[in-house]
Amino acid sequence: MAVNYAAGLSPYSDKGKCGLPEIFDPPEELERKVCELADLIRSSSNVVFHTGAGISTASGIPDFRGPNGVWTMEEKGLSPKFDTTFENARPSKTHMALLGLQRVGILKFLVSQNVDGLHVRSGFPRDKLAELHGNMFVEECTKCGKQYVRDAVVGSMGLKPTGRLCSVTKARGLRACRGKLRDTILDWEDSLPDRDLTLADEACRKADLSVTLGTSLQIKPSGNLPLITKKRGGKLVIVNLQATKHDKQADLRIHAYVDDVMTKLMKHLGLEVPEWTGPVVVESADSAKPEEIYTFKPEAHGLLKEEPFPQHNGTAGQCPDLGTTLVEHGDNLKQERPSPGTGPPLTKKMKVEPLLT
Ligand SMILES: [Zn+2]
Repeated sequence: MAVNYAAGLSPYSDKGKCGLPEIFDPPEELERKVCELADLIRSSSNVVFHTGAGISTASGIPDFRGPNGVWTMEEKGLSPKFDTTFENARPSKTHMALLGLQRVGILKFLVSQNVDGLHVRSGFPRDKLAELHGNMFVEECTKCGKQYVRDAVVGSMGLKPTGRLCSVTKARGLRACRGKLRDTILDWEDSLPDRDLTLADEACRKADLSVTLGTSLQIKPSGNLPLITKKRGGKLVIVNLQATKHDKQADLRIHAYVDDVMTKLMKHLGLEVPEWTGPVVVESADSAKPEEIYTFKPEAHGLLKEEPFPQHNGTAGQCPDLGTTLVEHGDNLKQERPSPGTGPPLTKKMKVEPLLT
């Protein structure tokens, strides 16, 4: 499906530096660095993590600029290799460790550029997560803003109509909103979602430690957000196999597989990595009650039987069947609009920033 992600977006010539060599810290150095990261986390009061496609390669989804990444392969005229579908992908150790860190209150906010939906499906609370480039499983009403988290990818990209209509009813007896639903996946130069960008920006301002995992930090504004923490006196840790755009700004750089780093980190902190037992959606960290949230709704709200499911863009992939189980939550998602933070306005369009090496 991420093949379709590449094919579904507009052509864009400058995709940034791709295929840079991978660096591996020797074992003793890695131990020392993870120990240092654990100390930094213990001495920080507000930790924000930032994730990129590098954390999902262990789940079978290729990244973009790694040696076998989507754009690296495209440059060579090749197709990337997928070991799974988005629906079958399992959250990695890193996804689950991040959930563990959130549950114990260490991780205050998570900023992700990933569209694979694995943070949400791992059970990470959506009110502590900014998905800056969208989510393959989420569609959104263009009229009332309600978001629906589906149990299959919604089938289009680039903020296009998915062919379904909103089923929100304001009061009993009134007819449903019936606004057109669209996917949430950004195309090049699309504006980032206001709510997510504002929350991410605020979180980075409040943070005294930003840790980036599996991102080359080349896409702006997402890749520049960790620098906000740094500029305000906080620390920056970069975990990535390849060089990143902001290596020079980092207080600590770790070159290793993110799953190794996170597994070691959890041991240092004396924490368990939670087990994944299947896809779940948790809307709020405060109201996370497993018996209520770990259940998929059986009925297919919002799916209009008379409208055919649209084909994926540009490819002949099999369309997912949404007629069985759907998850939809978040009636109030669009209502909570925090006041924008002070400071210079962020560039809101998704662009590649040149990697200066
Ligand atoms: Zn609506």
